[in-house]
Amino acid sequence: MTILVVEDEIKITRFIKKGLEMEHYTVETAYDGQEALDKAEINNYDLIILDIMLPKIDGITVCRKLRENKVETPIIMLTARDTVEDRVKGLDAGADDYLIKPFAFGELIARIRALLRREKTVKSTKLVVGDLSMDPATHEVFRGDKEINLSSKEYRLLDYMMRRPGQVCTRTMIGEHIWGYNFTDDSNVIDVYISYLRKKVDNGFPNKLILTVRDVGYKIADKKKIKM
Ligand code: CA
Repeated sequence: MTILVVEDEIKITRFIKKGLEMEHYTVETAYDGQEALDKAEINNYDLIILDIMLPKIDGITVCRKLRENKVETPIIMLTARDTVEDRVKGLDAGADDYLIKPFAFGELIARIRALLRREKTVKSTKLVVGDLSMDPATHEVFRGDKEINLSSKEYRLLDYMMRRPGQVCTRTMIGEHIWGYNFTDDSNVIDVYISYLRKKVDNGFPNKLILTVRDVGYKIADKKKIKM
């Protein structure tokens, strides 16, 4: 397992590198955004730890560029400020998780393990709800014969719900699965992403598949098949 640590503060980089090596990970480092992009596009890392405040190119832009270039490596963002806006920006850019500085090393390790475990459990059976279908092998999503393009976060959210058709997915379940094990329910990031998904999946179709379960969360179901 090789992890790329991108952070310009040498003290922090050394601290993370040393700790990860003690956990038997191989660590490479980059000290600015350009170096990170160059390294991540050449090497096949298992995970990237990416600070937002970086010289040359900031972490958010690095993350977005990597995703645009189809680099699917899991990314944990390091952010100095804990604001919903910052988190949404990072997640929107394609990050999988985030950690607020300063953080305990044990928490970083736990996040890394959770992410790497999740990467391994992707299954490859085609998922179908009503006329919505998703192919985990090709990442293609169709509503009827219309292809739907999703961001990586939207895709993972839809994938999670489609594996549980007709079942309530609580905010906690969704949050922990998509945003990390100790996700807190005090942001509206899930509702924001559900609204993105609805625009792409349900807009223009009379039969809405993404349903709100009031005060609890969401579910995906074909109402035509459910006896009311
Ligand atoms: Ca920094």
